[in-house]
Amino acid sequence: MTSPRTLLATWDLRARKKLGQNFLADPSTSEMIVKRANLGIDDIVIEIGPGLGALTVPTAKKVKKIYAIEKDTELLPILRSELLAKEIENVEIINQDILKTNLNEIAAKHKERVIVIGNLPYNISSQIIMNLIKERELFEKAIFMFQKELAERLAAPPATKNYGRISAVLQYFSTISTVANVKSNLFYPKPNVDSSVIEINFNKEILDKALDEDDFIKIVKAAFSKRRKTLKNAISRSELKIDSETTIKILELAEIDPVRRAETLKINEFVMLSNEYSKVK
Ligand code: SAM
Repeated sequence: MTSPRTLLATWDLRARKKLGQNFLADPSTSEMIVKRANLGIDDIVIEIGPGLGALTVPTAKKVKKIYAIEKDTELLPILRSELLAKEIENVEIINQDILKTNLNEIAAKHKERVIVIGNLPYNISSQIIMNLIKERELFEKAIFMFQKELAERLAAPPATKNYGRISAVLQYFSTISTVANVKSNLFYPKPNVDSSVIEINFNKEILDKALDEDDFIKIVKAAFSKRRKTLKNAISRSELKIDSETTIKILELAEIDPVRRAETLKINEFVMLSNEYSKVK
């Protein structure tokens, strides 16, 4: 693997901060991530932000096909030439913004569920995860690298400072595990913080299932919309547009004290609240 610094200099390019470009510069870390992702020769992979190919190249050797979605048009000639030099032919590069990509269309080409991987641009990592949750039926699992701080938020238990909307939603729909921690000096340019690699396995069966899972996502969002406020205030002033009387009623039916705050609610309490909301909306 040619170092990102050398590659960019050769092609007269600079890493773009706006696109969260911190390229992985350590081949053994790339290999380790791909090995731990447990990929197989029949797997179909969507890679978010292939960049210069640090994960694309080792992944391509293990799987049937990769759809590599990269927004930065300027990087594509480098990526193509890296793949060509390694005689890799099973990567289809899609020059698009992942937030505007129709993943359903890609997944529909295959009968297998798809695995998503990526060293994510840090500024849109949460948004990417929330979008994947909405289309969770398409995916087997996701293996992502992002800032350690976000990884801690995803796995945070209730009543801790890191617990928030994304923790509650993701923990409902999936099982999360930490695959590895990666030091910031293994990237170019070096980011300010270390990263973590997380595996997200979308649950095939949810035991304590919400009546309407879209309502579950909405009620969690509403509850956390005003973090410092009580549930009663946060929900009644949220985009759900239910008045305070109804808010108090659904909280009481779910056996949740209306003056509690969202960060104290366990996932099953959000499920009960969501179920009561589904009945009155
Ligand atoms: N995978 C490479 C690696 O590990 O070295 C690059 C990772 S870098 C952290 C993030 C990559 O995502 C960059 O290549 C960046 O151009 C790309 N990117 C940023 N925003 C994007 C978006 N909205 N859609 C698709 N790719 C994006």
